[in-house]
Amino acid sequence: MRLAVIKNRTLLVDEALDRGVDVATASDGRFGPDPTSIYDNWEAFAEWAASVTPADGNAIDAAALGNPIPEPRQVFAIGLNYAEHAAESKYEVPDLPPVFTKYRTSLAGPVETVELPGPKVDWEVELVAVIGRHAHNVPEAEGWNYVAGLTVGQDISERATQFNATPPQFSLGKSYPKFSPMGPVVVTPDELADRDDVELGCSINGEQVQKGRTSEMIFSVPQLVSYLSSITPLLPGDVIFTGTPSGVGLGRTPQRFLTDGDVLTSRISGIGTIEQRFVAAETQNG
Ligand code: ZN
Repeated sequence: MRLAVIKNRTLLVDEALDRGVDVATASDGRFGPDPTSIYDNWEAFAEWAASVTPADGNAIDAAALGNPIPEPRQVFAIGLNYAEHAAESKYEVPDLPPVFTKYRTSLAGPVETVELPGPKVDWEVELVAVIGRHAHNVPEAEGWNYVAGLTVGQDISERATQFNATPPQFSLGKSYPKFSPMGPVVVTPDELADRDDVELGCSINGEQVQKGRTSEMIFSVPQLVSYLSSITPLLPGDVIFTGTPSGVGLGRTPQRFLTDGDVLTSRISGIGTIEQRFVAAETQNG
């Protein structure tokens, strides 16, 4: 099942993003249209959605797809979850996942123009897990049962702000407007050949800069669900940015950051592609 959001209405869409079925219309108002409410009633929704064939729906405008999870109640993000990325960031491989948030006003749709707020804007392609059931003290073996779906995310990071204080300001440096794009769709894990091993990567102006597999994560999706839920309950519709593989600009010699006109394309196999164009901040007149 693939969920998309257009004009704040939830749709079930086909893999090619050609056709879709409006959830609220097709269910006579039982589910949707609000994207957040879908996750509050995920099990019943998933059961109903299994009977829907999106390819029989109406033509959709893929360019109109918005953030499929526009208003999660909580946003979790994990640092240093790939060993090579920890090394390039000059950190040890952590014993426990370092956790921060990306403030909600940084959330954005899959295709956006992003203003550069500083000279050190960096890229981090990430698998994002969407929670489908209230999760508290979930054993690792049951972690996947609490995940409704997966999407593509970018944990865009302004490194000057991130490291301008001690300890570093992870949440602030990663929360400028549109620094947390997600999409283009939420894909249920059963759609993937192996939900624990999907390829992810990103390119700048067509040049590949990151490539990895989620099987390389130090803490897997079910381990993250288990760990986070051992401390704070996870709510339906919450999202977890699960960390980035190596290849970020900060870890390069010389370092590289995004500049005016750069186009960042991020993809996860079996899920889709998101694209951000970066522009210089508008200078104020007078
Ligand atoms: Zn990250």
